[in-house]
Amino acid sequence: MNCYYGWNKDISVLKDSASGGIFSAIAETILSQKGVVFGAAIDCETSTVRHIPVETAEQLSLLRRSKYQQSNTEAAFHQVAEALSGHRRVLFSGTPCQVAGLKRYLSIKRISTEDLFTVEVLCHGVTNTKVVQSYIRSIEAKYKRKVVKYHFRTKDKPWYHSGSSMHICFEDGKEIYRNHAVDELYLVFGRNVALRPSCHACPFAKEEGRPADITIGDFWGAEEYIKDKDLLKQGIGLILTNTDRGEAFWKELTEQNKVTSEPLDIKKALPRNGALTRPARANAAREAFFLRLEQEDFIRLVHSIFKKVIFKEKIKRFIGYDRMRKIRKLRGKR
Ligand SMILES: Cc1cc2nc3c(=O)[nH]c(=O)nc-3n(C[C@H](O)[C@H](O)[C@H](O)COP(=O)(O)OP(=O)(O)OC[C@H]3O[C@@H](n4cnc5c(N)ncnc54)[C@H](O)[C@@H]3O)c2cc1C
Ligand code: SF4
Repeated sequence: MNCYYGWNKDISVLKDSASGGIFSAIAETILSQKGVVFGAAIDCETSTVRHIPVETAEQLSLLRRSKYQQSNTEAAFHQVAEALSGHRRVLFSGTPCQVAGLKRYLSIKRISTEDLFTVEVLCHGVTNTKVVQSYIRSIEAKYKRKVVKYHFRTKDKPWYHSGSSMHICFEDGKEIYRNHAVDELYLVFGRNVALRPSCHACPFAKEEGRPADITIGDFWGAEEYIKDKDLLKQGIGLILTNTDRGEAFWKELTEQNKVTSEPLDIKKALPRNGALTRPARANAAREAFFLRLEQEDFIRLVHSIFKKVIFKEKIKRFIGYDRMRKIRKLRGKR
């Protein structure tokens, strides 16, 4: 396994991606070889996420950006099998457990994986659909408008502050951005209150033995290496090449000048990315959250659990994240 940090040189694609835009650089190459790309897309009407096939570079925007919600792969597994049987090149991108599940499915069906290239996100967990649907209902009640679109991980705030937001569009054209530090869905996701139970025993939270050819994640801590603030605002990816095929593909992308890539000692990425070392530990409030979710409004419920956290985050935002970072450094904290 080799480790790198890097970013997509196409700035518009980089801006539209959750992190370094690495997924799109890989996907465009597969599409240029007349291949088909599978990834997770949001269906806002039902507040669900499912894997869909994409055939053109324009459609890739449907797959870009992380959706912190489980994606349904049922139809996609059949479609991947069909495409491979027809000798098409296929890129499948998903969580590590989805990649491992697909490979197992193809092996049971005895379908050759010679034309299959796989990418996985570095993954600390997914929430289930019911949680997201409760959140959307609660947002609709709070703003008294119907939600027609939502996105996780917009880059309206600098990436290196982990400053992404929920972006929500309403039927009447109103749009809101809800900062990750205080948005209720982000809180239950990021603080491990509402992850699926299997995520707390994830067998893929490790450096080696990962199922996909390439792993992509966020290079949190990139500001130690990159001083260009404009670049840091857009996002820097962490890349692990897990197979010879993955390594050769990454070298090709670098040589074709599609991405900027620098080698990295993986030990430097570990302190800020738990998904590489251990499964996320369930929050003590998890059980109570799910019990109360049946009866209570989502936003009010999360506020009652995270009253202190939300208050502290509001103070941090008031002081400013850059200043907070300096204060933490002076106090010897990361
Ligand atoms: C649920 C989840 C948890 C994550 N946890 C971490 C983490 O702990 N640490 C870390 O460094 N990075 C994590 N990531 C990855 C990170 O958020 C970026 O997705 C990654 O850095 C790729 O960014 P990009 O700019 O290259 O690609 P983007 O263009 O943003 O690509 C998004 C890719 O992610 C896939 N994807 C998005 N949502 C889902 C989903 N729900 N299920 C399956 N596949 C999906 C799409 O198919 C697409 O291939 C997580 C991503 C997800 C989806
Ligand atoms: S944390 Fe593990 S089990 Fe959960 S979605 Fe991610 S890869 Fe799958």
